[in-house]
Amino acid sequence: MTKPEALGRIRDLAPYAPGLSIDEIASRHGLARVIKLASNENPLGASPLAQDAIRRHAAQAFRYPQGGNPRLAAAIAALHDVEPQNILIGNGSDEIIDLLCRIMAREGEHNIVCFRPYFSLYPIQARICGLETRRAPLNEDLSFNMQALLDLVDESTRLVFLTTPDNPSGYCPDAASVASLAQAVARRAPAALLVVDEAYMDFTGPEMSLLASGNIPANAVFMRTFSKSFGLAGLRLGYAVAPAAIADAFWRARLPFSVNIMAEAAALAALEDEAFRQATMATVRKGRELLARELELMGCRVWPSHANFLLFQPPANAPKARQCFDELLAMGIIIRTLDGYGMPDRLRVSIGNHEENMLFLNAMRKVLQSGQQMP
Ligand SMILES: *Cc1c(COP(=O)(O)O)cnc(C)c1O
Repeated sequence: MTKPEALGRIRDLAPYAPGLSIDEIASRHGLARVIKLASNENPLGASPLAQDAIRRHAAQAFRYPQGGNPRLAAAIAALHDVEPQNILIGNGSDEIIDLLCRIMAREGEHNIVCFRPYFSLYPIQARICGLETRRAPLNEDLSFNMQALLDLVDESTRLVFLTTPDNPSGYCPDAASVASLAQAVARRAPAALLVVDEAYMDFTGPEMSLLASGNIPANAVFMRTFSKSFGLAGLRLGYAVAPAAIADAFWRARLPFSVNIMAEAAALAALEDEAFRQATMATVRKGRELLARELELMGCRVWPSHANFLLFQPPANAPKARQCFDELLAMGIIIRTLDGYGMPDRLRVSIGNHEENMLFLNAMRKVLQSGQQMP
């Protein structure tokens, strides 16, 4: 039997590697309590208003959702002061990334450009669509070398991905440099879109966001998600602000019911839950300062972060990153190794609630002390 060509392309594709799950680690190490600081989820859980909305809509589960999610699109458009025709809504940002690859580019002909390390879903979806991924190196300090990115853009480029704030470093370029990049991309590749992934933008000041500035370039798409600051990762809901022509193509290509009734109801409620948003921001800012300070006191190198996680490197005389990770796991604390991001000597920890942060810091202190070598 001959193998279809597409199967060959998928066969050696490494699938997206999610953070470890709590149940998996609890049973592997026989632990009663496991905390997960690995996937940048909301440290306060899900918005209480969103939880109420899900309960209230439970009886509606037999209905199909309304096609195009018009109520949610209108609410998101109002939030960003744009028209509903500029809004795309998907089953997580993941679906939006996938569909952008599919509607924008042709297999075997076009390429996408991003920085390395990158959110692995960009090249995975590109590869499934038969697109080349070009990767530009970051600067030594993990800031963005925009010229290196631009150098890879040519007339066959259809998507340029930029993650701001960046994952896993927490770095965030200012809005003006993203605006200049959009202009430069337009000059080099008139058919290309600059896709600005603002999944973590709520955790820094609004002045960092080009979307929030209102000066939206004609060739830019801004992705946001309900998975992080809104605490709804399990419901799968992402959106983007995009040129109307792109939004139109997106809605034609999207599976009609990929955003379900519960997700839509929860999102509408979460958008109204200002108290939860404020509490989330305060928790993340305070926790981020605490973790950065304490990890530095332990001798770790910590990168400045605009997001709800920290990138850090254990001191030279301590156990290596992988060993720290394994020992933390055995104590019931899941953080993230970064081998997949090409940073095997570093770790990423999500900001938790105060109790989780203290448990992590105490465990980390133990790990570093136990491995300290005598001079
Ligand atoms: C978490 C995250 C997202 C959000 O993805 P969803 O599919 O909306 O959950 C998007 N981009 C990056 C870089 C992320 O880390």
